[in-house]
Amino acid sequence: MFKAPRGMKDILPAEQHYWKYVCDEATQISRLYGYERIDTPALEYTGLFLRSVGEETDIVEKQMYTFEDRGGDSVTLRPEGTAPVCRAYIEHGLHNLPQPIRLCYFGSIFRYERPQAGRLRQHQQFGCEAIGSADPLLDAEMVDMAWRLCTLLGLKDLTVQLNSIGCQVCRSRYVQQLRTYYSSYADLPCPDCRKRLQHNPLRLLDCKNPPCQEIAIKAPRIWESLCDECRRHFDSLKDYLARLQIPYELNPHLVRGLDYYNRTVFEIQAMDTGGQNALGGGGRYDGLIELLGGKPAPAVGFAMGIERIILNLQKQSMQPPARNTARVFLAYVGEDAKRAALTLADDLRQAEIGVVVAVDGRSLKAQLKQANSLGLPQAVIIGQDEIQSRSVTVRDMARGEQASIPAEQLVSQLKAQSASGGIAGTNSTYGTGS
Ligand code: AMP
Repeated sequence: MFKAPRGMKDILPAEQHYWKYVCDEATQISRLYGYERIDTPALEYTGLFLRSVGEETDIVEKQMYTFEDRGGDSVTLRPEGTAPVCRAYIEHGLHNLPQPIRLCYFGSIFRYERPQAGRLRQHQQFGCEAIGSADPLLDAEMVDMAWRLCTLLGLKDLTVQLNSIGCQVCRSRYVQQLRTYYSSYADLPCPDCRKRLQHNPLRLLDCKNPPCQEIAIKAPRIWESLCDECRRHFDSLKDYLARLQIPYELNPHLVRGLDYYNRTVFEIQAMDTGGQNALGGGGRYDGLIELLGGKPAPAVGFAMGIERIILNLQKQSMQPPARNTARVFLAYVGEDAKRAALTLADDLRQAEIGVVVAVDGRSLKAQLKQANSLGLPQAVIIGQDEIQSRSVTVRDMARGEQASIPAEQLVSQLKAQSASGGIAGTNSTYGTGS
């Protein structure tokens, strides 16, 4: 028996309505803020991620799906969405378009992680990037979009965690202070933190290990070390978020795991999901385009994890709109009626009424049972009598009532019903069948 690879999921029809709901709302958000869609390959040359994400990050050290292709090139399944968008921006000269350029994407992300609820080896992200401006209004726009997506979806009990990690200049001063502070702890409790002290001291601040957190709590805060420009940027951002009435919390321990961030970093977190509580996050990455070989262009972005959003919708018992978008089940008795059903289904679809047509020559009773189990509100039934009298029988599945109407009136009647809710026509000769 073959199984899906560990940590990777099939998305079965029963869950698709959640996906449609979340992706439709995300698309709507991107329209509301003027973000245009970009798609990049699932695979990139490995060097792109080594350079952008950083060679000493968890993603590069432990999580990338990297392999040599048949031509001998090292390629990597995309472990995050920002670097590929930046690569495309440079490769296609998008800096020649009016700046900033606002882009959004949906795509699979691959990370070799220890799978658990809300942590997969392949997950989907919706992300937005604004490239070509350092205006803090864009940082606020990112937080606003991520927050609005969650609230539009009806998610509750979320927080926005916000921090500034400064620029290269003020951060390196701060990192020095941090090293001095940590050097007074002869032996750090976790091996990861001992490594971080050497290679990536900022990440000491967000270690999830409780004894490490106790040390981190008393560490100096970066805010006191921010240079004037970074402080002004941060103050403006906070002011804009207050104007937008976004309830953010300042969190000096939020640093995020990728090397390219500077100044703003933020996360949308669920209050109760423990380790996997981040629904989305992002920040500013003013140096990345230049680092990848482009003309310098400041930028900011965020990405939301769609599986985590769905997990939270389900936890909060939020029901997306109806699962089956078809409205009508087309049932028939006999071979002539089957042919008539085919053209009738075509008429309904031309009128944008979704139809599921019966198959396999089952009894009418079995067909109506199927209509019920699919949750379709109406069945249209055609038999020999209907063919002769050029009529159809329309059945309200919930009430079990049915009526006969002229076939040529079906489309207009069904359309009218969406508005009024009733079924018009004379009584039918069919029994209820159930
Ligand atoms: P990141 O690129 O790590 O900032 O992740 C952005 C969002 O993607 C996170 O906030 C999560 O919602 C989601 N995410 C990240 N890693 C995973 C994973 N392994 N499994 C499922 N969702 C993830």
